[in-house]
Amino acid sequence: MKNLRIAVQKSGRLSEKSLELIRSCGIEFSEDSRVLRTFSPNFPLEFLFVRDDDIPTYVNDGVADIGIVGRNEYDEKGYDLNIVRDLGFAACRLSIAVPNDFDYRDLTSLEGKRIATSYPRITERILKKAGVNASYVTVSGSVEITPQVGIADCICDLVSTGTTLKMNGLKEVEPIYYTSAVMISRKEFEREESERYDVLKRLLVRMDTVAMAKHKKYVLFNLPKKNLNEAAAIIGGMKSPTVTPLMDPDWVSVQSVVAEDRFWTVFESLRELGAEGILVMDIEKMTE
Ligand code: ATP
Ligand code: ZN
Repeated sequence: MKNLRIAVQKSGRLSEKSLELIRSCGIEFSEDSRVLRTFSPNFPLEFLFVRDDDIPTYVNDGVADIGIVGRNEYDEKGYDLNIVRDLGFAACRLSIAVPNDFDYRDLTSLEGKRIATSYPRITERILKKAGVNASYVTVSGSVEITPQVGIADCICDLVSTGTTLKMNGLKEVEPIYYTSAVMISRKEFEREESERYDVLKRLLVRMDTVAMAKHKKYVLFNLPKKNLNEAAAIIGGMKSPTVTPLMDPDWVSVQSVVAEDRFWTVFESLRELGAEGILVMDIEKMTE
């Protein structure tokens, strides 16, 4: 079977979570940081460890079949690729930040200003839409320094907490774009590389199975039999819960899967219905 080739950031904010995702699918690989290309011994997957900026290009050129990259990097490069999955991690925002003494009201305050950014394309697109014409200074790192050294009036940079900005005498004034990690592939991939595309499908089933389990809890409890219908209505869920009789004919044991964000509401309602011995467990993997 042909190997599916995945491009992953070598080292940076995406690396750990990307590898964790693949590992959670039961795929093994060696983790010597000096090795830039490796193969999994138990799944037809080949890893390319590269800079995140290069990932959209590698996928577009067919050097890699899929890649894990920030949506910002994908949008900035502007290739017409498929977003196969939204992965949710490495979330942050692209924000306008100005020196503390800059009189900022709204985006129109940026008219005619020099904006330093690593994402000129995204920034210009959004500002143009707001009717603002600015000039752009493209830098690939340490964007925060540019106002101090006089090459820009303000910046547009990725922010997650804002501490770095503050430390450099800047204030975040307006988030303009939100991003997190996505998995990308070429649009023609399915048609042109059917064997490797099958491997991708296998990988996606595994990813979805893990993702599905992530926000669910397995709940097991004893309940007075007379309240069973009411409890089933509260739990909702995939299908009707599994109900097992107990020695005491007035009681049953109930098992079901509950979404984590509903857990405490469900828990309290079940207690009101007389549920006892409520046992809650993490789910490792799950299918629909
Ligand atoms: P490389 O050496 O691979 O080019 P880099 O320095 O460009 O790395 P990182 O700082 O590791 O990149 O960020 C990679 C991605 O992580 C960003 O493009 C963005 O999608 C995401 N990210 C999440 N939080 C932040 C943050 N606070 N600052 C910057 N990027 C973040
Ligand atoms: Zn980068």
